Formats: sequence, structure tokens, C-alpha cells
Amino acid sequence: MKKTFIMAGIIALASSNMTNAANSKLNYHADSFADIEVLRYDVPGFDKLSLNQKKLIYFLTEAAIQGRDILTDQNGKYNIALRSTLEAIYTNYKGDKKNPDYLGLEKYLKQVWFANGIHHHYSMDKFKPDFSQKFFEAQIKKLSNDKLPLAEGENVKDLVATLSRVIFDPDFMNKRLNQAKGADIILTSANNFYQDVNQKEVEDFYNALKKPNDSTPVSYGLNSQVVKKDGKIVEKVYRINGMYSPAIEKIVFWLNKAKEVAENEVQKETINKLIEYYTTGDLKTFDDYSILWAKDTKSQVDFVNGFIESYGDPLGMKGSWESIVNFKNLEASHRTEIISSNAQWFEDNSPVDARFKKDKVKGVSAKVITACILAGDAYPATPIGINLPNANWIRATYGSKSVTIENITDAYDQASHGNGFNEEFVLEAKDRELMDKYLFITDNLHTDLHECLGHGSGKLLDGVDSDALKSYGSTLEETRADLFALYYLADPKLIELGLLSNKDAYKAEYYKYILNGLMTQLMRIEPGKDIEESHMRNRKLIAEWVYEKGAKDNVIEYVKKNGKTYLKINDYNKLRELFGKLLAEIQRIKSEGDYEAGKNIVEEYAVKVDQNIHKEILERYAKLNIAPYKGFVNPVYTAVMDKNGNIQDITLDYTEGYAEQMLRYSKDYSPLTK
Ligand code: ZN
Repeated sequence: MKKTFIMAGIIALASSNMTNAANSKLNYHADSFADIEVLRYDVPGFDKLSLNQKKLIYFLTEAAIQGRDILTDQNGKYNIALRSTLEAIYTNYKGDKKNPDYLGLEKYLKQVWFANGIHHHYSMDKFKPDFSQKFFEAQIKKLSNDKLPLAEGENVKDLVATLSRVIFDPDFMNKRLNQAKGADIILTSANNFYQDVNQKEVEDFYNALKKPNDSTPVSYGLNSQVVKKDGKIVEKVYRINGMYSPAIEKIVFWLNKAKEVAENEVQKETINKLIEYYTTGDLKTFDDYSILWAKDTKSQVDFVNGFIESYGDPLGMKGSWESIVNFKNLEASHRTEIISSNAQWFEDNSPVDARFKKDKVKGVSAKVITACILAGDAYPATPIGINLPNANWIRATYGSKSVTIENITDAYDQASHGNGFNEEFVLEAKDRELMDKYLFITDNLHTDLHECLGHGSGKLLDGVDSDALKSYGSTLEETRADLFALYYLADPKLIELGLLSNKDAYKAEYYKYILNGLMTQLMRIEPGKDIEESHMRNRKLIAEWVYEKGAKDNVIEYVKKNGKTYLKINDYNKLRELFGKLLAEIQRIKSEGDYEAGKNIVEEYAVKVDQNIHKEILERYAKLNIAPYKGFVNPVYTAVMDKNGNIQDITLDYTEGYAEQMLRYSKDYSPLTK
């Protein structure tokens, strides 16, 4: 299996524009702690949906929140017990709330909530506690046993010992996902997808399952944990009566309600198939479900619910549980419909070798959606674009659905107004103006192009294994999709299609992209560390490669002023050409499965950080006081009943706070918590 979908990246730049909900009364800021800002998002248009659609959304949101514990446990086997214990301390604390230990514990708990575990959601590094072990242990002693998540036969002493090690021993489970070259990436990754097995054992196990020349392979390993039992490697499958059964039963309960109010027969059948898959755990059924789901392009309400993306697994097989419920923004979808109806033109005119192009681009169904709930791996940090299903052969045969989540990009945009970023990092006023004017639309278009054309473009040569690029596959796939988007953003075709109104608009995105890839994204990296996350690697790869290849023509230039480093782009035409050249090479690597070339280009351009620039960025960024990472709280949906107990309406409330929401979810939606 290989993964394609993704988040096209957090919008890191401010852009003031008047195209979107400028009059909204929503308070976008919900909370700030550590390197995080939590925002709210609006759900415009919900009121205009039919009662039936609102009910469908309501049932699907319940099914979404019920999966929260699954993801938390997938991220690490002590996460749920740790979260419960910290919550018990937090909610029962009677002491001084200005005590630094208490404040440290509160911050840590907020981080654990945000990351669905003890590792940073982006860097994958373990959080460092700002409270003492003594304080932690003293607080636990004050709690009665019934407030603690004791496993059967476990005493408080054991629990304290385990959790203290989890929190305070920096070498224990220090990385959720380790992709370092040369390491046993299974043994050194602290996720809960594998227990007591090494990389070779896992690879041998799955290689033995794969059938040669299978043109419709299932997504091996997607929904299971791999363990050793009596010396043998076995899978514990996530399903009813299997692993995570209590949570999956709840999800299925709500899916059963949802199917009764489905918008049409295809959607009903789709939900039924998902229930069957959750019941049996059969991966062939998951493929059947995915095909039905991809075919359902008529419904306005749609959802993702399941073990989907495999970014959390160093081998890229295990699906992290996630859910997003949404409805189509009919007006804004006009944009993506234009793009997808011209998909063949984009494929035919791309700068890649004709051997790697698709003769016929299969049904890219693209839409702009409004998210109603974010859950599992999509909460609180969330993607702004999705392209599913992931299985290559399903995409090739049945097409895929690609979405841009515009109420989320809008919330980012609203929250970034006037944060001082552009003034600090963009030297020339003309560039800032261009960005102010066009970045909202070019960012959205970048996401549209990335998701609905980029990932779907190109083909593998016959006989090439889709896993051939191994641990470099994610980075290279994102690189490919980004380059496709960048290349076409500057194409006159976009103006001809009415998607952009100004022939220079693309420069806003080019400038932002290069600035981010070469400099500003480094604010997310700790001093001395390499870049590991796939999207950050892909952006750096692209920016560094075009910088180097364009050096002789001075395409991109570092400029020093008042001791600060800035970027200047001197030749936008050449920059576009370079994007095209790199796209051709990345597509070749993918189509031919050229592992060595893929590895070399990633290791050379995408990983190592220039220490001087890094230091400077961190210092300049610190003064701006902008959180490098953002995430969201969900609105609260309430079913209003009539006197006979029938749902009369579904109402929304946007006022819930971050800690409030997390504690409510832990109380009401924790099927796996003891
Ligand atoms: Zn992507």
C-alpha cells in the first residue's frame, strides 16, 4: 500500500483579504500553550441544510468523536492511562493554581491532549515535562483508587512507576516515529502499531502475505497491531470482538443511525459496507467500501471514518484512526469542478516524460467542503486538503475524491491577521502587497491543484512496486504533488479558466513557498535537529533544489539587511522552469521506483538544516510571539427533541473552550478508558 492523501500544509503567512467571512462574530482564539494556538472554526451554511442532512451530520459526528481513544492508543500504549491520570489530578487539584509544578502539569496535559499522546504531533519527539516527579507522585497519592486507570491486578505503586518513567525518563519511548537512516525503525519507534517485533520480522511477515503480480492488492497491515505470540508473528485486528472493540462498537452504533438518514441509496450502501468492515476487519471489504465511497459523488454530506493515513507508521502500512464529517460548499466547489473537468489537459501538458503520463486521467472528483467535526488523527491538528482513497489501484480504476477544507483555511487566515509575520520576513513592500492581495486564493488553489491533480497525476511503469521508495515514499509523493501545483499556478491556463484574475498572482505563492521552504518553516525545528516530517522535508527539498540549480542565474538570492537575512526572487520565469524540471525528475523516480535516486535527493536537499539560518529564524520568530502550530476545537452539536423524543433540529454552539472540550470528550467518549 502507499499513501497519497495529505494536508497541503499549514498556512504560515498572514494575508489580509476581504474575500471571506470578515464579518463573522466568531472568537477564533480558543487557547494557547507551549508552541500551540488552538482556534475555533465556523460552520457556515449549516443552517441551510435540510433536517435530514443535519441529522446525518449529527450521527456521523457522534461516530467520529467515539474513535478518539483508538488514535490515542495507537500513538502509544500508555497514552490513555497517562491522560486519565493527568486529568484526574487536574480536575481534583485543590492546591495553589499558581504553583509552577501545577502550571507545568497543566501545560503538559494540554500538550498530551493536542498530540493524542506523549509525543509532539509534528516533530514526534517526546514532550519534556515542566513539573517535578515528586509533585506528580504526591498528587496521585491524594487520589482514591477509583479515580485512577488501574488495570486488573495493578496496584497504584506500579501505575506510578510506569507513568513516571513514561513522563520523566527522556530515553524511554523518546520518539513516536523514527525514520533515521540505518536504525531499526520499528524497534526505535514508540508507537503502538508493533510490540516486541523488529523491522525485519515485520517486513518478512508482510512480504510473505503479498501475492506476486496482484493487480488489486489489499492494504496489508492497515488495521492491525503486529505482536509476537508464542514466538510467532501475528496480527491483532482492529474490529468488533477484536482489538479496540468497545470503541468500534460505539462507532458502529452511530453509523447504524446515520445510514437510516442517508441522502441516497449509494451513501446508504457505503455506510453499510463500512459497518461490515468494522465488524469483520476484512481488508477486502475495506476496498469494497472505498470503491463505493469514491463513487458517491452525489451526496452533499460526506465523511471520512476509519484507519486511513499511515504517516504514523515508519513502514507506512498501519492506518491511524481518523474522522472528518463535512458537507459540500456548493458555491466554492465551482472552482474545483473547473480544475477537475480539465484534468486531462493538465496531465497532457505537464513537463514530465510522456512514458510516465496517464493516457486517461480517471475521475478526479474535486470539491470544496465545510468541515463539521474533526476527530482522531485529524484533531485538533487538521489537514486543509484530503485526497482519498489511498489504494493506488482503486484510484486508477474508480478515481478518488479530493477536497479543500475551506472553513479551516479561512480560520487560519482570520487568525493570522496582523500578526507581524510578513513585516518581519518579507523585505519588499511589493511582495507583501502581492501576498496580501492574492495569498488566500493562491493558497486555496495550491491545495486544489495539489490534491485533485497532483496526487492523481502520472503512473508507475509496469512491474514497479508501489512501495519501492520505502521510507522516502511519503516525502517524494508530497514533493510531486506540490510541484504539480506550483508549476501550474503560473500557467496562463488558470487565467483562461477564470481561476485567477491577475497574471502575477502566482508570485505570491512562489515567494511564500520558497521563503517557507528555505527559512521560516525552520521555526518548527528544535536547535540542532534534522527535518523529519514528510511535508517539511518536501518543502525543503523543492526550495533547496531550485535555489541550487538556479544559483548560476541568480534566480533566488539571499539578501542581508540590518543583520537580518531575507530572500529575493529575481526571476520568476526561470523559477517556474526549475519547478517543472524537478517535477519531471521526481515523477521519473516514482514511475521507475528508483529507490537510490529518491533516497539521494531527499538526503541531500531535504534533511540537514543550516545552523546559522536556523538560529536566526528562531530568534526573529520568538519576538513575534506566533505559535508555530495550530489546531481546532470543534463546535458542539446538540439534538433538540420534540415531546415525542424525535429530533426536531440540530443546533451548534461555538463557545466551548479547549480544556473544557477535552475533558468532556474524555468523560463522554472514552470507550477504551478504564
Ligand atoms: Zn499531498
